[in-house]
Amino acid sequence: MADVVLKTDNLCKSFGALKASSNVSLDLRAGEIHALIGPNGAGKSTLIKQIAGNFAPDSGTVELLGRDVTALDTVARARMGLGRTFQISALAMDYTVLQNAVLGALGGQGRVFRFFRNVMEDPALLEVACDALERVGLTDDAHRRTADLSHGQRRQLEVAVALTLKPKLFLMDEPMAGLGADGSHRLTGFLDGLREQAPILLVEHDMDAVFALADRISVLVYGQIIATGTAAEIRANAEVRRAYLGE
Ligand code: ADP
Ligand code: MG
Repeated sequence: MADVVLKTDNLCKSFGALKASSNVSLDLRAGEIHALIGPNGAGKSTLIKQIAGNFAPDSGTVELLGRDVTALDTVARARMGLGRTFQISALAMDYTVLQNAVLGALGGQGRVFRFFRNVMEDPALLEVACDALERVGLTDDAHRRTADLSHGQRRQLEVAVALTLKPKLFLMDEPMAGLGADGSHRLTGFLDGLREQAPILLVEHDMDAVFALADRISVLVYGQIIATGTAAEIRANAEVRRAYLGE
């Protein structure tokens, strides 16, 4: 199908005796937010890592923009347009917001720290960085120290850093984690507008956000997808209610 930007086919991954992914097949289509939900330890982050290239699956394939990328590393997949935010922040807390965005625009290679000054004065990188900050609403905070931002602003900055690489699609692992109601609400609004530029595979525990945002939802339990459907279909699914929604 032409509008599929990401597809996994029967991914399997075990850690010793534990099957963290068991024949996981899903896809992400242009213009959509596809949420992946499931209890702690279900294998959501493990799946994201196989899609991003951090872990090789034991078997199965990952297709990105129509190409089998199962053998490619994280950098090659990122270059193809796979954007990402992490469950644990990868920001440099002692640097300013703008410096983090510029480092993002560089592709986050550690060795550039030796040329820090030159990098921070590169007009092309500054333009990309400022543009990304503007798109997430952090222009006025550009010169603040990252450690002094609120949790919500850090999440916005993480998205801005990812945006500097002009991703064609996004993987997001629990972007709402640690945000208060206000922060979640604002980030929800922001992600809502992002889907047209770049579809999102969204791992999220905040069910209000999931039901507000997701065009489709997949439910992962013990490494297996037990259901995929619209919010209404997932809410009405008896197995999902039992396994995950705690009814
Ligand atoms: P989720 O993100 O859904 O909470 P994870 O993908 O982090 O779940 O973990 C799925 C299961 O795999 C858990 O039981 C976890 O302990 C295990 N696991 C994850 N990563 C590793 C690893 N690197 N080594 C061994 N076990 C792991
Ligand atoms: Mg996780």
